[in-house]
Amino acid sequence: MEIYLDANATTPVLPQARAAAMAVMADAYGNPSSIHGSGLKARALLDEARAVARQVLDLPSGQLLFTSGATEGIQTAVLSALSALRQRRDAGDSTALQLLYGATEHKAVPEALQHWNTVLGLHLPIHAIPVGSDGRHDLDWLRAQAPIAGLVCTMAANNETGVVSDLDGIAAVMRSSPALWLVDGVQALGKLALKAMERGIDYAPFSGHKLYAPKGVGMLYVREGAPFTPLLAGGGQEGALRAGTENMAGIAALGAVLRALQDGSTFASPATLADHRQRLESALRDAFGAVVFNAPAALCLPTTLNFAVPGLESKLLLDLFDAAGLRVSGGSACSASKAQPSYVLQAMGLPAWQAAAAVRMSFGAADASAMIDEACQRIRACGAALRTHCLVEAPEDTAHGAAPLLTRFVVDGACCYLLADAASQRCVVVDPLPELVERLAQWLRCRGFTLAAVLDTHSHGDHASSAAELRAAVPAALQAAGAVDALGWPQGAMQIDLGAYRLSRLALPGHTEDSTAYLLHQGAQLQLALVGDTVLPGALGRSDFAQSAPLAYADSLRLLEATVGPQTLLLPGHDYDNHFACTLAVESAAQPLLAGVLQGQLDAAAFAAAKARLEQAMAPTAYLTMACGARVDATAPTACVELPLARAQALQLAGGAALLVDVREPYEQQLGSARGLEGGDLAQAVPLSGLLNALPQWLALATDTPVVFYCRSGNRSAQAARALRRLGHPQAFSLAGGLALWPERDTASA
Ligand code: PLP
Repeated sequence: MEIYLDANATTPVLPQARAAAMAVMADAYGNPSSIHGSGLKARALLDEARAVARQVLDLPSGQLLFTSGATEGIQTAVLSALSALRQRRDAGDSTALQLLYGATEHKAVPEALQHWNTVLGLHLPIHAIPVGSDGRHDLDWLRAQAPIAGLVCTMAANNETGVVSDLDGIAAVMRSSPALWLVDGVQALGKLALKAMERGIDYAPFSGHKLYAPKGVGMLYVREGAPFTPLLAGGGQEGALRAGTENMAGIAALGAVLRALQDGSTFASPATLADHRQRLESALRDAFGAVVFNAPAALCLPTTLNFAVPGLESKLLLDLFDAAGLRVSGGSACSASKAQPSYVLQAMGLPAWQAAAAVRMSFGAADASAMIDEACQRIRACGAALRTHCLVEAPEDTAHGAAPLLTRFVVDGACCYLLADAASQRCVVVDPLPELVERLAQWLRCRGFTLAAVLDTHSHGDHASSAAELRAAVPAALQAAGAVDALGWPQGAMQIDLGAYRLSRLALPGHTEDSTAYLLHQGAQLQLALVGDTVLPGALGRSDFAQSAPLAYADSLRLLEATVGPQTLLLPGHDYDNHFACTLAVESAAQPLLAGVLQGQLDAAAFAAAKARLEQAMAPTAYLTMACGARVDATAPTACVELPLARAQALQLAGGAALLVDVREPYEQQLGSARGLEGGDLAQAVPLSGLLNALPQWLALATDTPVVFYCRSGNRSAQAARALRRLGHPQAFSLAGGLALWPERDTASA
């Protein structure tokens, strides 16, 4: 059963609100502008909802309009204020010199300011009011700037952190400012008294779906006498202030929620909410000892917890919670390849890792105490799963999950590899990244492996190697610290032993003078090569750095081919497009320049010249890291790998036709079942971080054997399927929509 802890994003609809909406749709469906009986009933309902809203919000005067939501309310308020400023300026009054908004405001506010400022031709400078590390507005700054502002926008409570603004402090500043004042009341509705009239607020937008009403309904308060320009003109509804036939079902539902607020029996008291928060906080501390909270609890809505766990990125925690059936959200918006740190936490000046690793847990005032208990239990189970798999500190007697031979970590396209031999308990880290030091150190401390070496494939251009930091973090794990060269290779050693495996090295100057590949052998058999940026999936490392050796590059590529052959898996130093691995055969087919060198059509100088031409205009990429490879992949755009649910079910029912692979990480698998997909003869669990271990085995399958990957949402499984296809297995698929859309066991097998 899912536990929904994302109430700041939206809430379910309260039963009495659903009933009110249904009644409107089924019976009281009249148009409130009609003058017959049906219309009059609807009008009465509309008036009643507004009257309740006025009581709840303590707004005996001013306008209270029903809108489609807060975004519309914000547009209307900004349009109204800026139209008035425009008129004032046209009449010769140029005292308003700027527009101000809180740095942690919901994007709807600064975007609306930008939009209407341009549309109305005002072109006033727009500035963010800084906030302190506690998330509250800098009132000294505001005091200095408000006298020349035309509009000031400050939210009542923040949606990401729950930080409640000092509205009394802001009101005191605004009293001596000519500026209009907009307060976004969305997250405060039902939780805090806005005291809009007492504080002199000019505009306050609200949203229904953040407080148990449906999406598509909201309210806007406009102070009596505040400038107003309708956003929508038409049939004169809402006193001609907001045209369009009213959303009566939504308004009736919102009215029912507001009545529930008044009757006091549906929503928990502030003391109960504080207790719920306290319990969740304790569970988080038990689960992840080092958890840090990103805003001071004393200043926050009791219903919001924003936190980060050192060493664990927010995506990992979201997947973990999701596997436990806990729906929480990232404090940051994540795109497929780069997690954007939260601008709210950045504005508060939190360290970059904390802003990038934030998770928001928010509950509602209608949530039952038993649900909070269940959530706490599951949070503790999440902690136990991470301890089993060595992602957080664990007591010594904890039984750990097996360590795979190869684990891959990726940070913004840069790859780091951990090679670990379970039998000898020896491991090597290749290309450590600063963001991973804590995570790797935790892994090593927890499993007690010996760290035989920390290697770099070259001196990196885009990031500092964190080899020294990692060595310093785990002195006990380090093999007797003899002298090592600049890339971490033990002085004088021919190879590094890892039980049944051994690593040797191969100098490949080109991308840099010191570029080196590490070859992993099992006995006499070459397993794979870690090639740094010498060959990347779809690209060759750039060779226009000061430390590059462009004329040596062609010979290095030929040497690599002579040493490893066309089919050995090559693990790259960067993988911007989630291809995981490549081979010289695959890359030669995709990259004409590489093919030219390997087939002897280009000599070293011609290759270097062709490559220099490619790199001429290469800029830092959108990933904000330096592009480490010139992209020359000439293959067709990525094919669609999605297998629709119905086809996947048919395949599963056919029995044995397809290999089903769960690519969720082991801690997720421990927490959440795979709904009947796991456990068959042809079912495997290969986490994405360990995909490299299984690629050779899948590539050896008959080419017509379907391999169907699945995960939580279909995102990671699509990466796996695309990677396997690119490497040469055409029948690789991803279960569309992932486990989230896969029916429960009974329906699947029915
Ligand atoms: N303001 C805040 C603080 C919010 O949290 C949200 C919703 O996320 C909005 C405005 C936009 O509200 P709506 O979805 O009703 O347009």
